[in-house]
Amino acid sequence: MNQKYIRNFSIIAHIDHGKSTLADRIMELTHTIDKRDEKDQLLDDLKVEQEHGVTVKSRTVRNVYQAKDGHQYEYNFIDTPGHVDFSYEVSKSLAASDGAILLVDATQGVQAQTVANYRLAKKNHLAIIPVINKVDMPAANVEETEEQIRELDDDLIEAEILKISAKTGLGVEAVLEAIHTRIPAPKGDPKETLKALVFDSLYNPFLGIIAYVRIFEGTLKTDEQAILVAENVNIQTNEIGIFTPEMKQVDQLSVGDVGYVVTGLKDPQLVRVGDTLTLKDHPTKTPLQGYESAKSVVFAGFYPKNNDYQELKSALAKLVLNDPSLHYREELSDALGPGFRCGFLGMFHLQIIQERLKNEYGLEVLTTAPNVTYRIHLKKDGEVKEITNPTQFPYFNEIDYIEEPIVNATIEVPNDLMSAVMKLADQHKGELMDMDSSAKNAELIYQIPVSEVAYQFFNELKSVSHGYATLDTEDAGYQKADVVKVEVDINYSPIDALSFVVHRSDAARLTQELVHKLKYTVPRALYPMPAQAIVEGKALARVDIPPLRKNAAVSATKKSISKKQDLLRRQSVNKRQAVKNNVKLSQEVFNSILELK
Ligand code: GDP
Ligand code: MG
Repeated sequence: MNQKYIRNFSIIAHIDHGKSTLADRIMELTHTIDKRDEKDQLLDDLKVEQEHGVTVKSRTVRNVYQAKDGHQYEYNFIDTPGHVDFSYEVSKSLAASDGAILLVDATQGVQAQTVANYRLAKKNHLAIIPVINKVDMPAANVEETEEQIRELDDDLIEAEILKISAKTGLGVEAVLEAIHTRIPAPKGDPKETLKALVFDSLYNPFLGIIAYVRIFEGTLKTDEQAILVAENVNIQTNEIGIFTPEMKQVDQLSVGDVGYVVTGLKDPQLVRVGDTLTLKDHPTKTPLQGYESAKSVVFAGFYPKNNDYQELKSALAKLVLNDPSLHYREELSDALGPGFRCGFLGMFHLQIIQERLKNEYGLEVLTTAPNVTYRIHLKKDGEVKEITNPTQFPYFNEIDYIEEPIVNATIEVPNDLMSAVMKLADQHKGELMDMDSSAKNAELIYQIPVSEVAYQFFNELKSVSHGYATLDTEDAGYQKADVVKVEVDINYSPIDALSFVVHRSDAARLTQELVHKLKYTVPRALYPMPAQAIVEGKALARVDIPPLRKNAAVSATKKSISKKQDLLRRQSVNKRQAVKNNVKLSQEVFNSILELK
């Protein structure tokens, strides 16, 4: 299609504000999909996405729109994920777009993710179409929502704000018209040297790695020699195509087009999201600016449950290709053998990866207790160690002080629920930096350790505020922290994979809670085994894990002496073996740590 008639856009919204519903309406009105074979929200096709009802990966669809001006337009819709953990994915999608629909739920108004995504869109210089959704609902407060949108930015004071119901379709035609009138056509010259942005990628077991590209300059044809700049790898473009939403082969992709390239490559490391694809014979001298790589916030060990280390390794490599915000490296645990230390954007991200391993690769993993990065300042030579695994904690006598990462957390909450939220933030060691309770919604700004905010905080916040509070976090560097490593010993041997880090003030309470849980989760042996939580060389908490059977020495009074001796001998053999073989750890044992409050 003539470049003049192409529009590349995304929808940005807070979770549940109706992005998927609007995307479906757009595909329906442009006859991209038939109403009759429309699955419930066609775009959320990854199994984990359906289960959680949120978008995790970005998707792309080409629609053809017959506009009122008599022209046909090509609308490339690039879907963006909708959870706080995934703003990295959002920025990838936005870099491939020229405009964005800013969608706001009229019953909820502007929320934290609306603001965060709006800022990302501005950073990418996108044209913004503000749209208020769910006007059909009785609880809709259209005027107030409109005011909040205008307050977001001076640019929006004069903007025309559309009012729609993505559900009933009311007003959606006007959105389709606004896309071609308010979002610019892609710039660039089809005769220039090829410059295509790899904004996503996917591993296909039959085709190898498929790169999702947006052409910024030039034209890409089939059967050409192309090159990925960052990794300097050659590819032959045997198949290129577009998303309808199914993949459909085409002969060429020109400036402004969004589509895919079957690279034929098998090694996921070679196709980097953010890389530039150009032609081998006339490579571009100015590759596109890549993305900043995403920073891991939460770390945990993944260990194969069923001896499938190699399978786990290759599955992680493929997932990274599809999700470059996942990081991993090999590690060896005494208790669990070889596995991986993985870095995630947050706990939800961790959970998604766990589920994708299971759903897409049939792999189950043991996940160790998560932790953040600690900066450990040693007494000797002022050396600083960054540690992402508690087992690497130096001996406590060698430590001068420790720093932990913190965030600035902006919480918005209706005024009457403010005190409940403040209590929660206080429990999580939040330090109130600023507050504004002049409007209907109070805005609280806290400095909170990442270790407090990364795990349960979001869910607890939702629960104490009955779903009304929103949370937006921003990196705020490191801060001195009084944290200690807890070592867990079972039967007097330390189990490395069970080590974790806590604030000293919580250590006594949490270790008590932990050993009581271990009493029920550690598989029992034929003899009682002590489980101890040790901090700085001292046992803070201890329980005996009861034996599997009655102890021969104290029971079986009716048994003959020889039988009793026999049993005792067997027990002592088992005891020696058990110490050598280590305790068998199940996910329940790790959950004992994970579920500590
Ligand atoms: P997303 O998380 O932004 O993709 O939101 P969804 O599209 O999944 O929508 C979240 C919920 O809001 C779903 O239950 C939708 O059916 C509902 N919804 C979306 N748009 C509208 C609307 O215009 N009116 C009403 N009443 N419900 C809507
Ligand atoms: Mg959705």
